[in-house]
Parts: sequence; C-alpha cells; structure tokens
Amino acid sequence: MEVLRIRPPTSVGVLLSYKCTCECKHCMYACSPRWENRWISEEGLREVLEALAPSVVPASPRGWVGVNEGLHLTGGEPFLNYDLLLAGVKLAESLGYPSVFVETNCFWCVNDEVTRRRFKELREAGLEGVLISVNPFVVEYVPYERIKRAITVAEEVFGRENVLVYHEVYRELLDRLGVRGTLRVEEYIRRCCSLSLHALTLSFSPSILLPMGRLVYTLYELYERRPAKAFFRVSCLGELTRPWHVHVDCYYNYVPGYCAGISLGDARRLEEIVGGVDLGDRPVLAALVRSLGELYRLAVEGYGYTELRGGYISPCHLCLDIRMHLALEVGGFKELQPPEFYEALREVREAAVRRAR
Ligand code: SF4
Ligand code: SF4
Repeated sequence: MEVLRIRPPTSVGVLLSYKCTCECKHCMYACSPRWENRWISEEGLREVLEALAPSVVPASPRGWVGVNEGLHLTGGEPFLNYDLLLAGVKLAESLGYPSVFVETNCFWCVNDEVTRRRFKELREAGLEGVLISVNPFVVEYVPYERIKRAITVAEEVFGRENVLVYHEVYRELLDRLGVRGTLRVEEYIRRCCSLSLHALTLSFSPSILLPMGRLVYTLYELYERRPAKAFFRVSCLGELTRPWHVHVDCYYNYVPGYCAGISLGDARRLEEIVGGVDLGDRPVLAALVRSLGELYRLAVEGYGYTELRGGYISPCHLCLDIRMHLALEVGGFKELQPPEFYEALREVREAAVRRAR
C-alpha cells in the first residue's frame, strides 16, 4: 500500500468557519458572506485541539506569537461568532497551547471602546496576540480607519511584539497613498501606478501575495501566464507533508499548508493521518505527490480536463483549476474537500474563462 507520511503539526490554524464579511480577491480559502452560516462546534473544536496539542511548538522567545508557530484561530472572520472565538481561546488555554493568536479583518473595530473591550477580554482568557490583515483587498470592504484602530489598540493590549501586521508592505503603501474609508482595488492600482511602478510590482509580488486561491481567477490578468507544461515537473510532496502552518477547517478537514480544498483526513483522528494517508483511494493526492504533470495526465486522459487557453500564472493555478474540474464536473474524490470550497469558486472561474476567450 502506498502511503503519505505526515509529521505531527508544529503549528496550526483552525478555520472556525468559511463565512466572512469580505470577499477578498486574493482569499486562499474562497471565503465570503455567501457561505452558509456553518461554524465548528465547541465539542468538535475540543476534539481537534486535544488531538493536535502535543506537537504544537511555541514561538521564540516564549510568550510571543509568530505566523508559523503555535495556534491561531481564524476563518473566514472569527469575530463574526465572538462567543465561539472566546470559548476557543479558553479551551486552548486550558490545554496549554503556546503562542495563541487570532486573525481578523477588523470589520468589527467600529470604535475604540468595543475594540479595547474585546481584545482585553480575549487576553484575559489566554489570547497572546493578534494578526491583523492589512492589504488592498480587505480595504475594498473594511474602512482603513478600523484596521488602523485595531493595530493601535491591539498594541496597547498585547504589546507591540505580539501584533502581527500582515502585511507591513501594504500598511506602508496604504499610508503613503493616504487611503481613507474603503477603496476599490482598481483605484488602488491606479494610485500605485502614479506613485511608482515599484509600488505596483511590490503589491503583486508572489513573495508577498501567494498566487493561489481566488486570486488565480480574479487577478490573473496582472501576471505572466504560461502553458500547463511549464509546471509539469513541480512536485508538492514537501507542501503536502510539511508540519508547520497546517489548517483544520470547520468540517474537520486536515488541510496541508495553504492547499485549500485538499483534505488529508479528519483532524479529530490525527493518529490515522500521522500513521500514513493511504494514497490507494486518493488518486489526486497520489498524483500531486509525484508531479503536476501526473495530475494533468490523470485529469486529461481519465476525466476530460482541457487546458486553459489563457494559461496559468503558477503551479497552484494549474493544480486548483484541475481540482475544480474534478470536484465539480466529475466528483467522488474524497481528498477534494469541502465541496463548498469548489462551489464557492465556480462563478469566478467561469468569468475568468469567458474573459480569456
Ligand atoms: S478577510 Fe480574510 S478570510 Fe475574509 S475574504 Fe478576506 S482574505 Fe478571506
Ligand atoms: S500546487 Fe496544489 S498541492 Fe501544490 S502547493 Fe499549490 S495548491 Fe498545494
């Protein structure tokens, strides 16, 4: 039996839900307000956290938070269900989790009072820090003032070292552009161009903005595109088996790395995943471990996939587009979970295909 060996996770993010107040053009998890109002249950969250606790490592120095250490509670937007978020922080504290932080788009930071009250309550429950999403895609939906308020108050409550501004590059640019309120991405691009070409290049650099998820359909015109064969030699063995920054979603899928829409199994039964994921009945996973060329051949020869005429901006674009076809047009692949993720991208993909004609 061919199996995929997974190391126990050293850092993990739990998606309490895919529901969000925003529908960011770059969202890796295709979150939006249109998802059903489904949240992980408190009992399920307890089972997940109990299973993952032993291997998760703290950030250094101890007491700090880091993107790739400890536990983060995320979504979707976790503050849409504040009671669950608070319960999750208490649970993590009771299980001794190190470096626990929450990720937010700050939609709820409407004034200083509510922002301070919630951050303080969470800190007293055991939360050690906050990751604040700062980028031009969130600012399409969340007034920039709320994001700046969240940073100021969070630094006061958690200390500067425990507030992760993600991404500092965007904060600098949004400040330099003098953004107030919300701003369309098209306008952000226009203003960046008048600032400098460097500002625009930096904004969409793959080292800052990962070319995967919704972005490959909403923003692909901004990137150089290549034919499928340009990516055939890429193998995802490392990404699929890495122990850091893995995710568990509200359906209990154990999602490797940033590979949204791929499940290695039920995170509540981590011992089965770590014991070796059977590739015998997971053909997509088995192909990905070898190469994207294998995945392409499987999809074209076995399931009628046709190459995108407009080309692909990255290996993850090719991978996602093939998985979209397999999940939506074929079905029955248990490693392609949750089905709602693929449904959530159906419309933007169809629109992108129409634009490429
Ligand atoms: S705020 Fe975050 S979770 Fe929500 S749509 Fe934007 S990137 Fe996705
Ligand atoms: S190509 Fe697919 S499996 Fe590989 S890193 Fe990207 S999304 Fe994950």
